[in-house]
Amino acid sequence: MKYLLFFFLFIPSVLLPKERNLTLIVKGEHFSVYGYKDIDISSLIEKIKLNYFVDVKEIFKKDPKDLKTQLLESLDSLYQEVSEILDIHLYNFHTNIKILPDRNSLNEVFRSYFKKEFNERSFYLYTNNTIYISFEDLTLEMLAHEIAHAVISRYFVVLPPAKVQEILCGYVEYILKKRKEFLRK
Ligand SMILES: [Zn+2]
Repeated sequence: MKYLLFFFLFIPSVLLPKERNLTLIVKGEHFSVYGYKDIDISSLIEKIKLNYFVDVKEIFKKDPKDLKTQLLESLDSLYQEVSEILDIHLYNFHTNIKILPDRNSLNEVFRSYFKKEFNERSFYLYTNNTIYISFEDLTLEMLAHEIAHAVISRYFVVLPPAKVQEILCGYVEYILKKRKEFLRK
């Protein structure tokens, strides 16, 4: 009996999806960002800044604005950029970003929803308007791709076929990659 009780109490906590370990880092007009414990916010900003030549740590020394405010500002600029590229300007837009440490933990969350394996670095879940992304793999282009999914799913009354959505999001990614190459020349 003792064993059985232990079994029932123990199993549900093992099955808890990894995302329940995430806490809200910051909430702004366009994004609510959740991250795992001890996430390095300045490295996160470094990964998603649009100005490739700016050293985030240097700016922070000169202008010690709250890191969370800087994170929201970087995300907002990225959102504006995605809207410009798609030429979709929404009256209001808000989505959640949940940052998991790596692909394994991302896969665990995916498995908890879809009961199947997943070996990607990020995904957008339409039903809860949330971008899930692996911090280890995170790049500006990847996040822009997922933000584009969120923008598209808010814009179209009837969602375009998955393939069309991927083409549009891939286009956003392509433009940002090209820009980065151009700036680095
Ligand atoms: Zn996609």
